[in-house]
Amino acid sequence: MSHEQFLDELISTLGADVAQRGADVPERYHTDWSGTPPQRPLALVRPRSTQEVSAVLRLCTAHKVAVVPQGGLTGLAGAAVPSQGAIALSLERMNTIESTDTRAGLMQVQAGVTLQAVQEAAVAAGMVFGVDLGARGSCQIGGNVATNAGGNGVLQHGMMREQLLGLEAVLADGTVLPMLRPMIKNNTGYDLKQFFIGAEGTLGVVTRVLLRLRPAPQATATTLVAMPDFDAALAVLKRMQSRFGNSVAAYELMWDSFVQASLSWLKLGAPFAESHPLLALINVDGKNESQLQGDVQQVLEEAMEAGEVLDAIVAQSVAQAQTLWKLREAPAELNNNMHPAINFDVSLPQADIGRFAQACEAAFSARWPGKHALYFGHVGDGNLHVSVDGKTVGGECEAVEAELYRLVGEFQGSVSAEHGIGLHKKPYLQASRTPQELAVMRSIKQALDPLGLMNPGKVFD
Ligand code: FAD
Repeated sequence: MSHEQFLDELISTLGADVAQRGADVPERYHTDWSGTPPQRPLALVRPRSTQEVSAVLRLCTAHKVAVVPQGGLTGLAGAAVPSQGAIALSLERMNTIESTDTRAGLMQVQAGVTLQAVQEAAVAAGMVFGVDLGARGSCQIGGNVATNAGGNGVLQHGMMREQLLGLEAVLADGTVLPMLRPMIKNNTGYDLKQFFIGAEGTLGVVTRVLLRLRPAPQATATTLVAMPDFDAALAVLKRMQSRFGNSVAAYELMWDSFVQASLSWLKLGAPFAESHPLLALINVDGKNESQLQGDVQQVLEEAMEAGEVLDAIVAQSVAQAQTLWKLREAPAELNNNMHPAINFDVSLPQADIGRFAQACEAAFSARWPGKHALYFGHVGDGNLHVSVDGKTVGGECEAVEAELYRLVGEFQGSVSAEHGIGLHKKPYLQASRTPQELAVMRSIKQALDPLGLMNPGKVFD
């Protein structure tokens, strides 16, 4: 049967309101935030319910047409870019918050709800949601699940995997798999929902998620701390954790190259009179604001005496805390300022991150003396981001990638901490997974998607 017949059947089954032919699909569905070359999908479907998702997938299986799930399209690995001949399935209309139970600390949502909408609804209910990241206004909970998103709250709450009790997914053949039991403990064989977390849409479409909410902290102290080197930064983190335990909610490290880019791109005033090798943004939760600020101040003074801290600002108001956090928002401007931006998201043994950044600088500078590279990341969780301006390395993006991933191998790290593999990191997957692990991954894919229709060509071929 031809593509034309498939499209006719798709539109007659779902209606022209839900399904559009490729020629009519707006460009924003052709690629994602990663800068991957755009690809027009065969069609775009925007279902409103799980039943409609199931109907689309049944039809695709009958016609052997591939499906690429799309969330907010903020992914940085090219995983939501339409594959050749595939339809794009956008979850954007499935954006209902279905229930909030503050006693149980649960919220059930459709997968297309944005992260920010969940965060705001949690706050309105007197609680918080444990995931936060720069793309919060556009990325969707389904996309966060499919990439096992990390972000600024991992130190305290863990990754997306830890933020949900259940989910509902639709398999390639249209089978709806409800796994929404509201319990933490359920040791009854395989925990099937885990397969869909971090699978980047290759095993099925996530349609509903049962999220965990956390108690809102009564007070939060925010501080921006200047430090001479990475070992000092690690010592300050350990000092904070030994004083405040799991109440250290965020520890974001920014090398000076990143800070200078942030100040210039976002037109911010410099926080300190002079620049420093490293700045850390730290959030600590507690009960009483002034007491907490005093306690944080005391730890910083001790660290200063030990030579670990050069200067520090403790925010005196929520507005000042928000201004300090703006420094960390430069990643949203990468695509406007780097041409192209070559973005890395690596995980490393925490103590080695400083040496790894130095090794990258040395390797890049030796080969591309004019290179412009930024270093920043969720260092509290061993996660470093590196962004290199492609223009300053003569467009040799693949050579830059090969060099950095060679160093990741040397340092026994992982090629993706939180953004996923998608298309971009496929050639390097085997650097972070054993042949045995890859073989089991392929068996799971074969069992759940025997025709290979779900997001083909992503993660592995
Ligand atoms: P998309 O980009 O649309 O899709 C990503 C993948 O998920 C694709 O494989 C897609 O097929 C699949 N998918 C989407 N929805 C579904 C679904 N319902 N069912 C099945 N599969 C689905 N990421 C972090 O982890 N931490 C950060 O701190 C962070 N910061 C960022 C800052 C900026 C400025 C930007 C632009 C991105 C950042 N990201 C970060 C990356 C990105 O926001 C996350 O990967 C996010 O989770 C992607 O969600 P999305 O809805 O945009 O998914």
